[in-house]
Amino acid sequence: METVNSIDFVKSKIRDIIDFPVKGIVFKDITTVLRDKEGFKAIIDFMVDKFADRDIDYIAGIESRGFIFGAALAYELKAGFVPLRKPGKLPGETLSESYKLEYGTDTLQIHKDAIEAGKKVLVIDDLLATGGTACAACNLVKQTGAKVIAAAFIIELKDLEGRKKIPADIETVSMVVY
Ligand code: AMP
Repeated sequence: METVNSIDFVKSKIRDIIDFPVKGIVFKDITTVLRDKEGFKAIIDFMVDKFADRDIDYIAGIESRGFIFGAALAYELKAGFVPLRKPGKLPGETLSESYKLEYGTDTLQIHKDAIEAGKKVLVIDDLLATGGTACAACNLVKQTGAKVIAAAFIIELKDLEGRKKIPADIETVSMVVY
């Protein structure tokens, strides 16, 4: 269900934590939405409505908050769920993609055999900021030979222009925009 009310309702449940994890960052805390049964449902319903007719084979969730929404969405869309994890967490053979952070670099990994070539994939995370994480996640999934057709976020911080880092052929959807 996509109504202005459901978007406003979810927005009203997101909590700002000032100076977390470091000074100057306003952390968007989604645990306050998740604990609310109507809030969590509103997010999943919104995403189901957006993607129900896209014939998605796999949802790739970015560690760790992307797992929460990705798993529920995969269940609803009758798709598989694939975790994109921080280094050293996946037990099997992996592919890796590194990306720049404000200070240093970070890496995401996927099991080499997690997704068959040509399959349609949606990448999901809780929040789109500068877009570095999401861009790396899309590139990582592409390494399997699969096609990333969509990227979904609960929150988008518009001024950081992360959307520009995601290739134009990937439909990018965010529910709550700041
Ligand atoms: P970025 O790569 O800059 O788009 O950052 C996105 C990733 O960092 C996501 O996995 C978010 O969970 C996390 N993140 C970045 N900024 C924030 C923020 N202000 N509040 C909560 N999470 C954030």
